[in-house]
Amino acid sequence: MIYYGQQTISQEDIDAVVDVLKSKLITQGPVAQLFESKMCDYTGASFSIACSHGTAALHLACLALGVGSGDSVWTVPNTFVASANAALYCGANVDFVDIDPATFNISIDHLKQKLVFAEKSHCLPKVLIPVHFAGAPCDMAELKALSNKYGFFIIEDASHALGARYRDCKIGRCEYSDITIFSFHPVKSITTGEGGMVLTNNIELANKVRLFANHGITRDKALLKNRDEDEFYYEQHELGFNYRITDIQSALGISQLARIDSFMKRRSEIADTYISELKLTEFHTQRHLANTQSANHLFPVCINYESKVSKSYLFNFLKEGGVTCGCHYIPVHLQPYYQKKGFYRGDYPNAESYYNRALSLPIYPSLSDSDITKIVTSLHKVIR
Ligand SMILES: *Cc1c(COP(=O)(O)O)cnc(C)c1O
Repeated sequence: MIYYGQQTISQEDIDAVVDVLKSKLITQGPVAQLFESKMCDYTGASFSIACSHGTAALHLACLALGVGSGDSVWTVPNTFVASANAALYCGANVDFVDIDPATFNISIDHLKQKLVFAEKSHCLPKVLIPVHFAGAPCDMAELKALSNKYGFFIIEDASHALGARYRDCKIGRCEYSDITIFSFHPVKSITTGEGGMVLTNNIELANKVRLFANHGITRDKALLKNRDEDEFYYEQHELGFNYRITDIQSALGISQLARIDSFMKRRSEIADTYISELKLTEFHTQRHLANTQSANHLFPVCINYESKVSKSYLFNFLKEGGVTCGCHYIPVHLQPYYQKKGFYRGDYPNAESYYNRALSLPIYPSLSDSDITKIVTSLHKVIR
C-alpha cells in the first residue's frame, strides 16, 4: 500500500542515532544544541529551541507571547487541530479565519473583514497563527502589514514548510513574524520521530521558550532570586513543562537536515509530474504565490464543482488500487469538541467546501517513478 507520506531513513541516519546511543548523554547533551544551531544556519533565524513535538512548539510559542485567559488567538480551520489547541492550552479563546479557495491558505480578504469588525467590538486577537498549508507559504508581507496595523503577534505554523521559501527568505527566518514553529513528525520535511522547533529573532522570546520547555527552571546565575548558592542550585520561575527533545532524536534531525536539498528536489519533481499529468478539467491544484517556493509537504487535489466524481469515490477507487490518499483537513471547527464551543457547520464555507472535495496524493522523497505512474494511471481511470 502506498500512503500519502512517510519518512526517508538512510544508513547514515541510523549510524548517527546509534552513535548517540553509545555516547554518554542521550538527552540534554550537546547534540540537541548542535541541531538547534544547524537549524539557525539553514533558516537564517537567530535563535532556535528544539522540543518534543510541533504541538509543544506551538504551545511554547503561545506561552512566550503571554497568551492567557481573556486573549483571543486566530488560526485557520484548514489545519491540524494542534494549531488551535495550543491557544486553548493557555486558557485563551480560539477563532478562525476562512481560507482562500485558490491558495488553500488563509484568506487575506476574510482576515481584513474580520479585523475591522473585531476592532469595532474591541476583541482583536493577541496572536494570529497562519499555516503554510501543504508547504506553500502564506502571503507573509500582507500578514505582517496587518499585524503592524492592528497590533497582533504572528506565529507561523510551518509544520509543513521546512525547506519552503518566501521571497528572499527561507521559511523559519521569521522575517515577517515573531515566531515560527516546525514539526519533525515522520511525514514532515525532515523527521526526528517526534520532535519540533521554535525559531525567533527575539532573544527575550527565545529565553522564555527555553524556560517554559524545561519546567520553568533556570540555572542562569544572572536570573536567580537567591544569589551565592552552590553549583547544583536552580530555581523555578514559571509553571513550565518538560518539552525537551532527546539527543537521540536530534542526531536523526541533524542527519536528515543534511539531506534536505535532495528531499526538496524530489518532492518538487513529483509535484511537477502530477501537475503536468493531471491537466484535467476534473481537478484543480494549489495556487502558489509569485516568488515563493513550496516545500511540497502535501500534494492536494481538489475536485472541481462540475465533476461527477465524488471525493469518497475517488478515495476508495485509489485505495482498491493500492494507494491511500490523505485527507487534510477535516475543518477544526467541525470537530465535536469545537462544536461544543459554539462553532457551526457553515461558519467557514471555503474550508468546508475544500474538505468535501480535496484529497492529498502521495508525495515523499522515496516515492518511486513507477509508484507515481501507478497513481496517475489510476486517476486517469477514475475520470474515464
Ligand atoms: C504536524 C502538524 C502539527 C503538529 O506537529 P506534531 O509534531 O505532530 O505535534 C501542527 N500543525 C500542523 C499544521 C501540522 O501539520
